[in-house]
Amino acid sequence: MDAKLLEILVCPVCKGKLIYQKDAQELVCKADRLAYPIRDDIPVMLEVEARKLSLEEYDALA
Ligand SMILES: [Zn+2]
Repeated sequence: MDAKLLEILVCPVCKGKLIYQKDAQELVCKADRLAYPIRDDIPVMLEVEARKLSLEEYDALA
C-alpha cells in the first residue's frame, strides 16, 4: 500500500491514526479496536465494514 496514502488516512470514527497491518491487509484503529479491510489495495474506510478486534489481537499490537 502507498505510504503517502496511509499518512493521510484516519479512522472515520475518531479521526485518529491507523496502524497498517501488512499480513492481515487491514488498517487498525487502536482507540476503537476496529480493523478496516484493504481490498485490492483500496482501504475500505467504513465503520460498517470494519471488524472488531479480539482482545488477543489488540494486545498483540505494537
Ligand atoms: Zn478510531
